Amino acid sequence: MQMEQQILRIPGPTPIPPSVQRAMSQPMIGHRGQEMQALLEALKGKLKPIFGTKEEVLLFTSSGTAALETAVVNAVEPGEEVIVIVSGAFGDRFTKICEEYHILVHRYDVTWGEAASPDQLQHLLQKHQDVKAVFATFCETSTGVLNPIKDLASVVHQYSNALFIVDGVSCIGATETQMDEWGLDIVVTGSQKAMMLPAGLAFVAASKRAWEAIEHNQQPRFYLDMRKYRNKLEENSSPFTPAVSLLLGLKQAIALMEDEGLSTIYKRHQLMGEMTRNAFHALNIPLLTKDTDGSPTVTAVRPADFSAEALRKVLRSEFGLTIAGGQQHLKGAIFRIGHMGYCNPADVLQIISLMEIGLRKINKNIELGKGVRAAQNVYLNNK
Ligand SMILES: *Cc1c(COP(=O)(O)O)cnc(C)c1O
Repeated sequence: MQMEQQILRIPGPTPIPPSVQRAMSQPMIGHRGQEMQALLEALKGKLKPIFGTKEEVLLFTSSGTAALETAVVNAVEPGEEVIVIVSGAFGDRFTKICEEYHILVHRYDVTWGEAASPDQLQHLLQKHQDVKAVFATFCETSTGVLNPIKDLASVVHQYSNALFIVDGVSCIGATETQMDEWGLDIVVTGSQKAMMLPAGLAFVAASKRAWEAIEHNQQPRFYLDMRKYRNKLEENSSPFTPAVSLLLGLKQAIALMEDEGLSTIYKRHQLMGEMTRNAFHALNIPLLTKDTDGSPTVTAVRPADFSAEALRKVLRSEFGLTIAGGQQHLKGAIFRIGHMGYCNPADVLQIISLMEIGLRKINKNIELGKGVRAAQNVYLNNK
């Protein structure tokens, strides 16, 4: 194995396109100068279609979790009640942030690997009439589930006055998101998943209703105060030194997205999800999720008769292919393949093919080529 060839197929961080890498190596520019102003002005308009909103998309220098915390501290006050949909590790993270800020959390626990049910959410909303906000995870990265965000949003608005706050970190940019049309009040994402950048940028957009709550919120906050970012963005500026190189990379990443077209990008991810799932079906290896709940960006596999960790280890040592393990109680029980961002059907065929060799190496008896062939057929039937 050549050490420089690393095949990174975890659900974030994800590989960086070469042109984005080059854009990030440009000489530094001053963050208060004209070039920066022009850059922010250009980025402002280009981010909106990715979120499906007419509102501003604010840029934070942080990992994705700061964006989750931003949503919490700006929208909700200590002592207020919220519902958090917990369908995996990232829903669970929202509960931890809320509890840290003395917000009263009603958990809606979904079995890991399943999608949240709008009906169940409706029951909870009828039981807890005073909730200020409902928190949900769009793609639950820890289980490979894409939650039915549009339907959950419609239930929230039909049965309550709560704000609907969505963690889209592992799918915004890869999955259709219509923030305004679906009634999503706050949507957040990060740079290192479907946006094809290194970690370090977080994105937060809020609806007009959410902005009302944000303006009136008495909760102290400084670095994560969304009002500061919005006011500065109006002047094409930022309250603190932004991650300049990442913003230069973002401009190029968005140029690539515009060249391909958002609807083509969404179809490519759907196709990669289907190719991956069908490969495992053909090999008779169970997935953690039902196909209808499966995310286009990440697939979780739950082996019945071989060790997920042994497979991960052999793929790494033989081919430099990194796939992810499980989180929390699924540690050791599943493995997860990221197929988002700078990833194509050709990469999926490579992953499946290497996976088959890895399975044979750990003495799992499979017919070589069976998974690859299934994925190839999905590809051909799709075109
Ligand atoms: C990756 C991820 C995050 C944020 O993680 P950071 O490590 O803080 O960037 C949040 N939510 C989901 C769903 C994620 O996949």
